[in-house]
Amino acid sequence: MDLPRPRPAIAALPTYVPGARGDADRLPPVKLSSNETPYPPLPMVAAAIAGAGEVAHRYPDMFAVELHERIGAHLGLSAASVAVGGGSVAALQHVLQAYTGPGDEVIFPWRSFEAYPILTAITGATAVTVPLTSEARHDLDAMAAAVTDATRVLVLCSPNNPTGPAVRLEEFERLMATVPRRVLVVLDEAYVEFVRDAHAVDGLAALSRHPNLLIARTFSKAYGLAALRVGYVAGAEELIAPVKSCVTPFSVSAPAQVAALVSLDARDELMERVETVVAERARVADALRESGWDVPDAQGNFVWLPAGQRTGEVAHALAALEPAILVRPFAGEGMRVTIGTRDENDALLAALERL
Ligand SMILES: *Cc1c(COP(=O)(O)O)cnc(C)c1O
Repeated sequence: MDLPRPRPAIAALPTYVPGARGDADRLPPVKLSSNETPYPPLPMVAAAIAGAGEVAHRYPDMFAVELHERIGAHLGLSAASVAVGGGSVAALQHVLQAYTGPGDEVIFPWRSFEAYPILTAITGATAVTVPLTSEARHDLDAMAAAVTDATRVLVLCSPNNPTGPAVRLEEFERLMATVPRRVLVVLDEAYVEFVRDAHAVDGLAALSRHPNLLIARTFSKAYGLAALRVGYVAGAEELIAPVKSCVTPFSVSAPAQVAALVSLDARDELMERVETVVAERARVADALRESGWDVPDAQGNFVWLPAGQRTGEVAHALAALEPAILVRPFAGEGMRVTIGTRDENDALLAALERL
């Protein structure tokens, strides 16, 4: 009997493998695998989330009007220039749904964020990947050269997940001067709050210069709301309107909306935490370089260890420790390690020293 068949592009996607669950007779792991902040929500944020729980029988504001206005005000843009989604991954999905389909090409760097090939395949478009340079940076000249008549979207990830370097202003402007205006350029700035490279491009400032540019930002990383799923894309109103049309109704829950609003109010306090992570990042990267690791410039809340063929073995040995240290391995390439608390980072450095 013939059962329903998915579209071939969907059938070809990797099937989801659930992450390791905590083992009852082991200590809780040191989780440095998902680029989360090590700090729990501020008390005022936790209280707002609990308050939203009291009225969970009501639908949230369908269009998240207040949140769009608040994010717009925060960025110095109109509410119509912002499209909020269930995490910036969902917002990126809506961008691709709005602008691409079968036969269209989406260019992105590789190795980069694992969602890009999946989101591209789901929309039915064709992924065109451009290898990173030997310094684990975007090769923007090669990306510009990869544009064809079929290119609809070009994605940049700054800082690049999982390798760390940010896109520089000068190379970004060279790319934008070459790429035709009909190509939508999406600058994914999930870690923008952690960037300290004075030469890095600032996507928000670049919006006013480039009418074909969108930026993507999130509350999951610096704002510490990963579990609540709220992120957004921003740019010219004409570019954003079709993205809003693709957003799943009610996809940002009421607890997520209030948590994001309160987090914007508490921004100064949250940015102090970011400052701590940035200082720890420098300490960890320096220590790793001193012990011989070729760590690329780290501008996110993580560092990249190019362990090559030893990647699986090292990640496995870290996970076997008690407590386990969980990192994100990419077989044959290297591993991404999130900056945690000072104690967690010390545990990682000590373990790598012993291995
Ligand atoms: C974490 C991350 C995101 C955001 O994820 P959400 O939790 O969906 O907001 C987007 N892009 C990159 C490169 C990331 O690493």
